[in-house]
Amino acid sequence: MSDDGCVFCKIVRGEMEAKVVRDEDGVLAFHDIDGRAPVHVLVIPKEHVSSLAEIGRLPDGVAKRLFEVAQEVAEEEGVAESGYAFRINNGPDAGQEVFHLHAHVMGGERVRMP
Ligand code: C5P
Repeated sequence: MSDDGCVFCKIVRGEMEAKVVRDEDGVLAFHDIDGRAPVHVLVIPKEHVSSLAEIGRLPDGVAKRLFEVAQEVAEEEGVAESGYAFRINNGPDAGQEVFHLHAHVMGGERVRMP
């Protein structure tokens, strides 16, 4: 399912531009529009789920691929060895702004928890 008003669904449907680094069955990864680290990529399921509360609705294997693609993108972007943060902001208190589940992959400098 996709959500008409969701910006990440628009990126999945190709209606909004993004610097895509991975496009595969079920998973998309693209550079964050407002990168806050030398490498800042978002990894998302193509299917619209708002947060981890709905992760069980994803097709089989997609949740696992989110983790694997994060590692693969980190390798491709050259930050896997030095290390990177894999972060999911879940809900308002965590600062989630886009309610389409996404993982931030951030590296290329020392990344600290805010
Ligand atoms: O985890 P949170 O919901 O706060 O993060 C949303 C992220 O989506 C932000 O880092 C923002 O820069 C990014 N974004 C994007 N492209 C858009 C809209 C938001 O990369 N069109």
